[in-house]
Amino acid sequence: MPVVARLQANSPIFAPDLQQLGQVFFPGGELAIAVPEAPDDGGVSAAAPAAASAAVSGAAPAATAGTAPAAASAGDSGPAWQVTVTALPVDTGPDELPGMTAQPRPIRWRVRVEAIAPDGRRDAQEEVVAAQPDWSPRQYDHRLRRAARRLMLAVLGGLTGIAPGWGILTGVRPTKLVHDLLDRGLPMAEVRRYLAEEYRVRPDKVDLVTEVAARQRPFLRHGAGDPERYDPRAISVYIGIPYCPTICSFCSFSIYPLQEHRGELPHFLAALHRELEIIGAAVAELGLRIESLYLGGGTPTSPPDREFAALLEQIERALLRGQRPREYTVEGGRPETFNRFKLDAMAAHGVTRVSVNPQTTVQATLRHLGRIHTVEKFYRAYDLVRRHPHPFVVNCDIIIGLPGEGPAEVAQTLADMRRLAPDNLTVHTLAVKRGSRLHGEGAGPEVLRRLTPQEAEAMVAEAAATARSLGQHPYYLYRQKYMVGSLENVGYARPGTESLYNIQMMERRQTVIGLGAGATSAWFYAPANWLLKAPENPSHPGTYIARVEELAWRKVEHLRLLFGGETLAPAPRPPVGTETGF
Ligand code: SF4
Repeated sequence: MPVVARLQANSPIFAPDLQQLGQVFFPGGELAIAVPEAPDDGGVSAAAPAAASAAVSGAAPAATAGTAPAAASAGDSGPAWQVTVTALPVDTGPDELPGMTAQPRPIRWRVRVEAIAPDGRRDAQEEVVAAQPDWSPRQYDHRLRRAARRLMLAVLGGLTGIAPGWGILTGVRPTKLVHDLLDRGLPMAEVRRYLAEEYRVRPDKVDLVTEVAARQRPFLRHGAGDPERYDPRAISVYIGIPYCPTICSFCSFSIYPLQEHRGELPHFLAALHRELEIIGAAVAELGLRIESLYLGGGTPTSPPDREFAALLEQIERALLRGQRPREYTVEGGRPETFNRFKLDAMAAHGVTRVSVNPQTTVQATLRHLGRIHTVEKFYRAYDLVRRHPHPFVVNCDIIIGLPGEGPAEVAQTLADMRRLAPDNLTVHTLAVKRGSRLHGEGAGPEVLRRLTPQEAEAMVAEAAATARSLGQHPYYLYRQKYMVGSLENVGYARPGTESLYNIQMMERRQTVIGLGAGATSAWFYAPANWLLKAPENPSHPGTYIARVEELAWRKVEHLRLLFGGETLAPAPRPPVGTETGF
């Protein structure tokens, strides 16, 4: 594939920024990124502190100042965008910055971004970043990187006409920054101003992310310091079933077609039963309260009736042991896997929320995606759940930007959503990730480039208007790499039907225990507001089956450390402006 843009910098600390903003401005295009080798172990993280330390002490870091970028790789010739980021120290001296002569010596850095379009148009802008004595090397690196991203946004935005809604804000959880700022006592008006000025977030996205965060606050008392609402022993549990009837072309999870793995299913369910028993005993021993439970995957409703009902029975006996979670979701990724028997079993075992996911109600698209259900099948499954005497909260997932879909197809799906009126509507924007069939077949670039950001945004706005017309509001939000239009996924809900699990999993303010294949856990130590690294279950069912005992006991050890010991002091929060990682 021809190179669309050659992006280079004189320090390895800028490599992630070239990659991330390169994807925003040249979606699906081949990028040639050239930065100098990082010292020591060759990683960017190793180079970053080195560059910043040198900056604070006034010495020009060898890998950074004035060093020519490494040559772009071979095979990147031809007309392409050229983008160059340079960061060079400006030795101000004590006379220019009186009062800042104490060690470490203050120094300013000039960050400059220059871009040349294939048609010869060009622009260059620069910004000077002055080190503050209390900045750590890591914080200083982030300031330099943020300046470089702002400059890339301005220069490339001007030349391409693209105005990315999220500005330079990167990462999966834009709400995390808002919560961090609110936790430090910043009023919401100041948070909004900060997002716009520091991260160049567009006003409509500032509205969205602050609305979502404000709606989440009442659910996030863990770690937000409200002793009345704070339950230090509340947790969530996720259970992953790694099978689906067929694999959707956009799916990047490690999911296996059930028909081909039918013989493995009893072994997987037996292993899961063992993990449920071990973790259930630990939950009881430590006096933990399961606030929300999420049965996902894959499609957990894929197994035949008898196995599915037995699974719910095992969850109730081995894990819950008399507890009734406030929320218990079953993700029915595929409408063809629903029937009355399974719904009766769900109702009997305390399930409160069911996802029936069409993704689209355009038959041709469903076929193209490799989903074997029809639109009629979705309507029938939805009806079955809705008419069931148990008052399930019903969620529908839809995706904007599916291959072959434009405004007319999206309008058809949204008209169906208005007619069916689910309690929750989750609006995804297609992401073409490595591991998906779309990516493997080389269709990713075409899919990502097919719609302009404006076209994708218009459809996402229609979906948002549909959700609001159903009395729903946005309550959780996340972003992914390689998304159409660099947009976002948003969960909408009627008031009172917000999914606790989705909020807690996304905002990481509560411990989540992941069970089953491919399940990830999140260990949250509320007294100190720490999120600790948690073990991950292998996604391959065979590996999971072989290692389940060891995996489960390792989790028990972690849970005992987390909930069985002394309370540690809260970690101090860094001042506003020195946050890293966004
Ligand atoms: S239904 Fe969901 S989990 Fe299953 S293959 Fe499709 S996208 Fe993947």
